[in-house]
Amino acid sequence: MKEVILVKYGEMALKGLNKSSFEDILMKQIKYRLRPLGTFSYTAAQSTIYITPEEDSIRMEEVVARVQKIFGIASICRACTCEKDFADIQAKALEYLRETLEDADSFKVEAKRADKSFPMKSPEICRELGSTICEAFPEIAVDVHNPDVTVMVDIRDTNAYVYAGKLKGAGGLPLGSSGKALLLLSGGIDSPVAGYMMAKRGIKCSCIHFVSPPYTSDRARLKVEQLCEKMTDYCGDMKFYCVPFTEIQEELKRRCPEEYFTIIMRRLMMLIAQEIAKKEEALALITGESVGQVASQTIQAMVCTDAVCKCPVFRPCIGMDKTEIIEIARKIDTFDISIQPYEDCCTVFTPRHPKIRPQLDLIEKAQEQAHFEDMIQRAVDGTEVKIFRVLR
Ligand code: ATP
Ligand code: MG
Repeated sequence: MKEVILVKYGEMALKGLNKSSFEDILMKQIKYRLRPLGTFSYTAAQSTIYITPEEDSIRMEEVVARVQKIFGIASICRACTCEKDFADIQAKALEYLRETLEDADSFKVEAKRADKSFPMKSPEICRELGSTICEAFPEIAVDVHNPDVTVMVDIRDTNAYVYAGKLKGAGGLPLGSSGKALLLLSGGIDSPVAGYMMAKRGIKCSCIHFVSPPYTSDRARLKVEQLCEKMTDYCGDMKFYCVPFTEIQEELKRRCPEEYFTIIMRRLMMLIAQEIAKKEEALALITGESVGQVASQTIQAMVCTDAVCKCPVFRPCIGMDKTEIIEIARKIDTFDISIQPYEDCCTVFTPRHPKIRPQLDLIEKAQEQAHFEDMIQRAVDGTEVKIFRVLR
């Protein structure tokens, strides 16, 4: 029996004229993720992509697992390919759906006939296949309103397909269809979630991480690299920029009032991130901030950080509770990495009494007492780049 995977578009199906460019991007993503698993053929019709494995050794579970992490897909069905002949459809349905039908108390059949030249109309297909199933599985009853199993018959141009049940896709829009942004990735719980959420909206992310050796360890950096690697599951290949931040933090400590350390540090991070974003042709920055979570995440603090930003700063976690963020972190499997206890450069020289409601003019004045311009340039020049690729 030959299996195929039917992938149905999500929100993309609603797009008008530029739908085909979304489809092209989605198709490219799927091919890229599946290529290491073997050879497949692909066709697209009516907001559905048909993925047919061309090698017997291909493990369908692995195919489905990968497709489930590709944005732009609403649902995924594993189906059995049949000849466009009702006898074949009947025989294959009984065999392919045997276990499913044996475990169910009730079922119904739904048929879709894209090829109108097929000799039976949809209601007739439903009726006939329904009675075949009833005969073969006498324990099961027909229930058209609330069945345990819905058997689908899909008659298309070259083949017919039979399947039951569907899996939820990752949703959102295909990666890259909304452009590029740069994610400020710390070792914490929130920023990987923020990256995932924006990737889900079709944004291709690169990451930037600030390190302050010897105050932060190699192990702390490694943890962030692990996060980045894990994020490729959903976010695709990712560039990882690692910025040396020690000189700046030491200058900050030397020249600026302690209560402003964090807020000025965050402004400097933004300035550097913008430089890297320019190189990357990324049009926005992304952070994992959530309003009120810590002293540097008050509205006033964000006013002060955003004052140095020329590009938009996306904060998709802004209105979320920690428990909601953790739920997503577990789903995308970053949580266990994030909770490893290594220091972040934000925890270096943390003020004992940070200003919770900083005033922009005072912050600007305080920042003028240090000379960061050359240091910012040196940090940008000293940035290391690494690429993390999706599992091959
Ligand atoms: P997270 O859980 O993402 O670490 P947090 O609640 O610990 O967030 P902060 O430490 O205030 O909050 O950091 C706020 C945001 O600033 C982070 O979500 C991240 O986007 C960015 N950030 C913090 N530290 C770094 C770093 N060392 N490198 C890159 N970005 C950072
Ligand atoms: Mg943090």
